[in-house]
Amino acid sequence: MIDFTNTQIAFEAKTGADLRRAKFLFNAIKYPPVVKLGKIFVYITGKLKLPVGWLLKPTIYKQFVGGETLKKCTPLAQQLMKYNILSIFDYSAESGESAEDIQQTFDEFICSIEYAKDNDNVAYTVFKPTALTVDKVLEKASAKTELNGEEQKQYDDYRQRFEKLCQRAFDSNVRILVDAEDYCFQDSIDELTEEMMRKFNKKRAIVFTTLQMYRHDRLPYLERLYDDAVKNNYIVGMKFVRGAYMEKERERAKHLGYPDPICATKQATDENYNNGLRYVIEHIDRFELFSGTHNEESNTVLANLIDEYSLARNDSRIFFAQLYGMSDNLSYNMLTKATM
Ligand SMILES: Cc1cc2nc3c(=O)[nH]c(=O)nc-3n(C[C@H](O)[C@H](O)[C@H](O)COP(=O)(O)OP(=O)(O)OC[C@H]3O[C@@H](n4cnc5c(N)ncnc54)[C@H](O)[C@@H]3O)c2cc1C
Repeated sequence: MIDFTNTQIAFEAKTGADLRRAKFLFNAIKYPPVVKLGKIFVYITGKLKLPVGWLLKPTIYKQFVGGETLKKCTPLAQQLMKYNILSIFDYSAESGESAEDIQQTFDEFICSIEYAKDNDNVAYTVFKPTALTVDKVLEKASAKTELNGEEQKQYDDYRQRFEKLCQRAFDSNVRILVDAEDYCFQDSIDELTEEMMRKFNKKRAIVFTTLQMYRHDRLPYLERLYDDAVKNNYIVGMKFVRGAYMEKERERAKHLGYPDPICATKQATDENYNNGLRYVIEHIDRFELFSGTHNEESNTVLANLIDEYSLARNDSRIFFAQLYGMSDNLSYNMLTKATM
């Protein structure tokens, strides 16, 4: 068993001020009305372009954000590396739908691949497919609805950008995560990601697909991916998360009258996630695994599976991942087990 309660290990890298700030923030965000008000505040001040950096930067920003640019993230990545924690730089600027915005976001993704190539402390690069095109096109492509001339051109551009990112990651020998997004976009994202895995993952996993295990159709999909990998002789890059859009998905399904794609209960999602981990470890010769969760039980399940299947605790095919500042007790305590 891993002891996630060892605060000496968990917070060794933090100052007293860091811990007081974290305590204040986590206490505040326990209350849904506070979160709701915070969202409204950020939305309004953002729209009005009010200068609230002085308030956000020393608080929320310092707790959860690595930096505004790749360069500004570097000191934090170096500090984490001292504890053997590798980084992923997630470019999270709100992406617009204009051609200029899409191009600018694409360029940022390319820069992050270049950065990862030159920095051993970066484990993966990542991109959001919806940032590479307009939502309407991706939604129609997912629903297999016919695209008009202009939309087809936008879709072709999107495909090209997607492939260029994967190609650049392959040429740079850098792993690249394809984030999972809303259900209405996901079929076309999956289809293209599969194509990229077939092309670029012949020797090792470069391209990683993301499965949201709150979806009740993901375990059968995982099995289909495995069969496809055997048939076409490639390694599946597998990123598991539970999924970030539950309320929105349920509302949309109800509104449009299709079956809810999400597991009926939290327990069903948890079981799906843990069963996915087991399936991948049982077939590890065809997979590389990225487990993105703050759930203690799932992290323990994976750690125990590694022992059960006599894999090395620092097996380079398996990564545990948390968002920065969200659950340091997991990230730091886990490492004590990895190095035992
Ligand atoms: C490194 C990393 C990368 C991520 N990348 C993505 C990504 O690409 N796409 C994405 O969508 N999300 C992503 N996420 C967010 C993730 O999907 C979860 O929303 C978040 O991590 C919380 O889940 P958990 O497993 O950490 O914790 P837990 O607290 O154990 O789980 C909470 C999650 O359980 C599910 N859940 C809660 N209540 C119910 C219920 N009643 N019925 C069914 N299910 C329920 C929901 O998915 C909820 O988010 C990422 C998270 C991490 C750590």
